[in-house]
Amino acid sequence: MLYVSTRGKTDLVSSAHAITRGLAGDGGLFVPQNIPAMRMVDIKAMEHKPYTERAIDVLLQYLTDFSEDELRECVNAAYAKDKFGDNPVPLVQVNENTGVLELWHGPTSAFKDMALQLLPHLLTRSMKKTGETNKVVILVATSGDTGKAALEGFADVEGTQIIVFYPSEGVSDIQKRQMITQAGKNVKVFGIEGNFDDAQRGVKEIFGNKAMSDELEKKGYTFSSANSINWGRLVPQIVYYFSAYVDAIKAGKISAGDAINFVVPTGNFGDILAGYYAKLMGLPIDRLLCASNSNNVLTDFINSGVYDKRRDFYKTISPSMDILVSSNLERLLYNVSDGDAVRVAEYMQRLNNEGFYQVDSDDLKRIQSEFFGAWVDELETKEAISRIYSDYHYLMDTHTAVAWRALEKYRFLTSDETYTIVLSTASPYKFADSVLEALDDKEQPKGEPFALLHKLNEETGVEIPPRMLALEELPVLHSEVIPSDKMELAVMKNLV
Ligand SMILES: *Cc1c(COP(=O)(O)O)cnc(C)c1O
Repeated sequence: MLYVSTRGKTDLVSSAHAITRGLAGDGGLFVPQNIPAMRMVDIKAMEHKPYTERAIDVLLQYLTDFSEDELRECVNAAYAKDKFGDNPVPLVQVNENTGVLELWHGPTSAFKDMALQLLPHLLTRSMKKTGETNKVVILVATSGDTGKAALEGFADVEGTQIIVFYPSEGVSDIQKRQMITQAGKNVKVFGIEGNFDDAQRGVKEIFGNKAMSDELEKKGYTFSSANSINWGRLVPQIVYYFSAYVDAIKAGKISAGDAINFVVPTGNFGDILAGYYAKLMGLPIDRLLCASNSNNVLTDFINSGVYDKRRDFYKTISPSMDILVSSNLERLLYNVSDGDAVRVAEYMQRLNNEGFYQVDSDDLKRIQSEFFGAWVDELETKEAISRIYSDYHYLMDTHTAVAWRALEKYRFLTSDETYTIVLSTASPYKFADSVLEALDDKEQPKGEPFALLHKLNEETGVEIPPRMLALEELPVLHSEVIPSDKMELAVMKNLV
């Protein structure tokens, strides 16, 4: 299997090359040249395998320059019991025709662990395969979840170093605590005086600084990204759609071959795109429901074919979906246009220059036949958390609640009662303040994150993730806060 750029101006490369580089040389994203197919018998055969073996079945189709044994080493290390427990992604049946796929049983209690625990293993092996001898320096600008998940994934991984920048006043108390207590010889964390955009701009400037990267290249360092534009972050996410499907068979909810729906709380369009790849590979999926919060640029796009980022940005209680430019949409456009890289490049250029683009009517028809878009506001999100808890005794975080509510809207509009799986992307404890606000219908005291964890536990009996509880006792290792125009300097001074 070889990889092409969505903008069509680079040579075909191996998966190891795509993973080492992250972004294609023409500014596009790497996509597989063709989509591998899985037969129903092979899918059905996953039913009695553990998650790690299911992962190997899927990854082998895409990472053809890796041997089965290599992949087994990677997935066994990534999804080890001490990190994910006995079942990395349980499918919980919440009512007759709805299951919830809990993707947050990893070390940081958010779904990004599913990819970021595996990526470092794929990356270090890819570096060896491509003859990369430099140390890879991962730079991350984070609004919360990615930073911690990347730190956990890369801490003490040979041949790599990771530097994370977060907006010092722009992440939740728990998220900050998770990052500033991170141990590891090769990790560094900085707060930024400014917002997430300032941090992101700073990282982009460093990536774009040719003189700096040339100089560091000579000293033995190469920059890379752990962002979801990297194929090595996307491909692990395809696995759990297959895993959920066979678990639904196992639970007697469906028979092999039945089409089901998935609903995905979406930000950068990585998670839901992985579902689309699963469908193209032959997994019986009818509709992929794209759930957004008040930053509803994707809902508008799916309904109208116009992607327009020129709009107000809202800070919501589902902050990991607060995003106006969903990078992975570029990969979808490539697929629905049957690999028309010229057209994709035009759309992206227009987005960059004018702030919007409109896809042609054939592309829009294809998109609408696969996806349904709905968005959910803050009140609806909280209402769903409290109602689902009281109806089914199932506790959801804010992102999952957006997805659940979007599914209700879809069912109301279409009367489609097909068995549907809701992707649950964070533990309710990660957003304990908003979850408690939803349950108790009143504001919660600020600045005491651990008291809120205990309160939520007392009210619901749901277990607090032990790692989150342990944060209270961990020493602070990274207290530095720097102006956003000093990020480059911070990188230079902290290379090890
Ligand atoms: C990152 C994230 C999302 C959005 O996923 P995308 O792949 O960016 O669409 C949703 N929920 C949570 C909790 C996340 O951390």
